[in-house]
Amino acid sequence: MALFVQKFGGTSVGDLERIQRVAERIEETIRAGHQVVVVLSAMSGETDRLMRLAHEVTSHPDDRELDVLLSSGERVTIALLAMALRGRGINARSFTGRQVGIVTNSSHTRARIAKVMASPVRQALAEGVVPVVAGFQGVNERSEVTTLGRGGSDLTAVALAASLKADRCMIFTDVAGVYTADPKVVPSARKIHKLSYEEMLELASLGANVLQSRSVEFAAKYGVPVEVKSSFQEGDGTLVTHEDADMERAVVSGVAGDRNQAKITIVGVPDRPGIAADLFSAVAGASISVDMIIQNVSQGSLADISFTVPRTDLPRALPMMEKAKTELGAQTIEVKDEIAKVSIVGVGMRSHSGVASRMFQALSREGINILMISTSEIKISCVLDERDLDSAINALHQEFALNEPVQD
Ligand code: ADP
Ligand code: ASP
Ligand code: MG
Repeated sequence: MALFVQKFGGTSVGDLERIQRVAERIEETIRAGHQVVVVLSAMSGETDRLMRLAHEVTSHPDDRELDVLLSSGERVTIALLAMALRGRGINARSFTGRQVGIVTNSSHTRARIAKVMASPVRQALAEGVVPVVAGFQGVNERSEVTTLGRGGSDLTAVALAASLKADRCMIFTDVAGVYTADPKVVPSARKIHKLSYEEMLELASLGANVLQSRSVEFAAKYGVPVEVKSSFQEGDGTLVTHEDADMERAVVSGVAGDRNQAKITIVGVPDRPGIAADLFSAVAGASISVDMIIQNVSQGSLADISFTVPRTDLPRALPMMEKAKTELGAQTIEVKDEIAKVSIVGVGMRSHSGVASRMFQALSREGINILMISTSEIKISCVLDERDLDSAINALHQEFALNEPVQD
């Protein structure tokens, strides 16, 4: 008998027919003699719909109230699935984040998990009850509802799997696994059989949102084996686990694209020690993650500093930059938000040279202009115009022959 945490994403519970199909799948696993803890997302589009409602009510909705609102989507699906399972003669019980004891910090809309009690889930399992847990939500120390950032049901599933020492955390979604690129952008993308935590973390944080990046971080930290697979068809998915000899030995494992990007340039800042420190400590204080940074010396003793932030953080970053502009005596602030980032990822890059030049040549052949570049040991990223993103992803997928099976 194995213990599985099975998470079903929004499309998998998008309507009542699909909820019945999920119930059927869970029933099969239970009848095969395994224990299952279910984690659910809200119905597809529901979190976006709630978000739109909030922004129709006011342009800057309060984060605490936003969490109360957004967490309601998952309450609907857990109750419906628990009913569907009970209708099939399976003893199931729904649990909110508070009821399972998912305790987070107080960063509303992007809370981090501090601890997972999980005792009500253990108790339910011991009684032969199937726990159906609301993903994406927790409570802070004052019992206020928090949410774990977009895609956060993946994190709920991984955190529960770690706490329960489950045999596997299965993430059921609308594609059959993790592919060499988003199959909706590159139709010839190939499913990867097995992937290291390190590569998956890079892919996820660079825009492959098939898994939430924080869930991968958590899985790596606690060694949780994660399998991404289809809700709609049978068959193996992609196993994300520790790097081993059985993994593909490609130089580049995958290509990712991210549209949630914006570039801010502070023009004409005095070029003296301490300026960058002052500027970026203000941004970090608001937990906005700055990605690429470029400083150019313009005329005389003035410099321009450009950096990228998630586009969704622009409304919070800009007032801070206006303040910094005045304090530092800078000239103007320029914002470009129709940009995107394309990245290639692979542990094989550690031992191969010339990968970056192949990337730049492939983009140049498509006539794509690179605005910024950054590299690390296992990835290279380029910022470009958003309208070039899909052709950049396709060109890189082809350049590194990612549709072809890897030769060992
Ligand atoms: P869910 O609602 O099940 O959580 P998501 O929309 O969060 O589903 O994640 C699945 C989607 O991730 C896929 O439909 C696919 O378009 C996208 N995706 C992006 N990059 C990849 C990739 N490399 N492999 C597979 N899917 C990817
Ligand atoms: N419903 C939440 C979202 O859309 C959480 C999730 O689906 O993982 O982001
Ligand atoms: Mg998701």
